[in-house]
Amino acid sequence: MDSVPIPVEFRCGKCGEKALRAEGDTLTEDSIVSCTACGANVGRWGDVKQQTLDLSAEELKKRLKDLL
Ligand SMILES: [Zn+2]
Repeated sequence: MDSVPIPVEFRCGKCGEKALRAEGDTLTEDSIVSCTACGANVGRWGDVKQQTLDLSAEELKKRLKDLL
C-alpha cells in the first residue's frame, strides 16, 4: 500500500521520531497515521492534526510569554 508523508512537527509517542506517514494514496481525516521508524500506530490524521494544532498553539503562547 502507498503511504503519504505527514508534513507536521509531530513526534511519535513511542520512539520520539518525527517520521510519520499515513496509509493510502491521499491524506484524509480518517487516514491512519503510523510511525515510519518504529511502526507504532499514532492514530487518525484528523486527531493527530488537532493535537499538532493544539501543541503549536501552546508553543506559540510560551514563546510570546518569553518575549513579553
Ligand atoms: Zn515511532
